[in-house]
Amino acid sequence: MVRARVLEILNGGQIGERYEVMGWVRSRRDSKAGFSFIDLNDGSCLSNLQIIADKELPEYEDQVLRAYTGSSLRVVGVLNESPARGQAVELKAERVELIGPVDPASYPLQKKRHSFEFLRTIAHLRPRTNTFGAVARVRNAVSYGIHKFFQDRGFVYIHTPIITGSDCEGAGELFHVTSLDLEEVARKGEEIDFSQDLFGRPANLTVSGQMEAEAYALALGKVYTFGPTFRAENSNTSRHLAEFWMIEPEMAFCDLKGNIEVARGLLRFIFNWVLERCEEDLKFFNRFIDQTVVSTLELVANGDYEVITYTRAVELLSESGKKFEFHVGWGLDLRSEHERYLCEEVFNKPIIIIDYPKDIKPFYMKLNDDEKTVRAMDVLVPRVGEIIGGSEREDRYEVLERRMRETGINPEDYWWYLDLRRYGSAPHSGFGLGLERLIQFITGLSNIRDVIPFPRTPGNLEF
Ligand code: ATP
Ligand code: MN
Repeated sequence: MVRARVLEILNGGQIGERYEVMGWVRSRRDSKAGFSFIDLNDGSCLSNLQIIADKELPEYEDQVLRAYTGSSLRVVGVLNESPARGQAVELKAERVELIGPVDPASYPLQKKRHSFEFLRTIAHLRPRTNTFGAVARVRNAVSYGIHKFFQDRGFVYIHTPIITGSDCEGAGELFHVTSLDLEEVARKGEEIDFSQDLFGRPANLTVSGQMEAEAYALALGKVYTFGPTFRAENSNTSRHLAEFWMIEPEMAFCDLKGNIEVARGLLRFIFNWVLERCEEDLKFFNRFIDQTVVSTLELVANGDYEVITYTRAVELLSESGKKFEFHVGWGLDLRSEHERYLCEEVFNKPIIIIDYPKDIKPFYMKLNDDEKTVRAMDVLVPRVGEIIGGSEREDRYEVLERRMRETGINPEDYWWYLDLRRYGSAPHSGFGLGLERLIQFITGLSNIRDVIPFPRTPGNLEF
């Protein structure tokens, strides 16, 4: 007897071999001919294994007939070719053991389509559905692929802190971290004495590991981070989470052009990687979520990416004659509707927008010679909009210090970041790729809450 997972049995199980499998009942049908058909899923793949249980089995009444949707089973049986259409094999049960029963009257996941809104209220059970099982497997494959891409190219994976004292992107989206007794602080109503706090100063959850990654890039050459990031975004959009995962490569001796090459190379690699490894799950998304998922992926996996300047993007938007909700003009930030218009209607492929006005980007981006724009790059893809934000970093000490003062930042707070320019500075670049936005693009799922196991968004912290 071979203990196996459903994936192994479906991909090369031996006819006539005896297998032991364990999993959860997706559905059961009892035929008049004296058999029950059980669709068993164990999460190893999207497909179920069909189990045939004869009513002559001694445990038929007690175990098989109580195997309702959602219950867990152990089955021992012999693999046969299946006469049924749509499946090659089936397992003829010799023994069926009900491990974890389910009360069918209260089990919330019946064998029908549930809305994503409803499934979010049962985030602990939704991985048992086809969609969320497939998302989890794709997310896993993408994560593995990301490490593979960087490891094969000599990048060093580094771990940057989750609790930090600096705010990389400008205030307003920070979660504060404290060990102070908030009730005490609230009652006093005076200014908070942070010297009493654990770190002796204000602390917050990181919004980016970039600055720390820069320190390591300027020693190890090429590094990347891959970890959780926190932003107290108090907006309910389909593309923002309060806790999300970000991949941040940082490269020394690399300008914006090199940065674009790494970003494009990474995206192409990942799209090919999932097309190869997640065929069944992608077909499922293509069928049930968005009919353009696979064709779009194939397009961006090998096709080219348009690189345009911000100034050109604004021109294209102004000339479009299209009515946008938000105003377009040089110096204003591009909104999601603008990004999607450019991506989906003008170019119909991913675009990389570079050279943004300095006033809408952070102080650390390298100033261009025009003194008006910075060497920023945002990568936009159809349906999702921005998935990558990056830049060449300002590597000149004087310019960086001046930009800090201009944007109201005290250089003393960033003494160590300035030191990186004082000692052995080098041109360097990097970017942040949002894992969830990438998974949204790959799966076609329109809401970011459905591509992370337990989403954190305003008002939601149940699980
Ligand atoms: P946006 O304009 O969409 O809010 P951003 O300009 O704040 O993005 P960056 O600070 O450049 O984004 O962060 C890098 C990447 O992290 C983004 O391109 C995106 O993929 C992802 N990202 C940013 N904020 C969030 C969020 N709240 N939830 C999920 N992913 C995010
Ligand atoms: Mn943002």
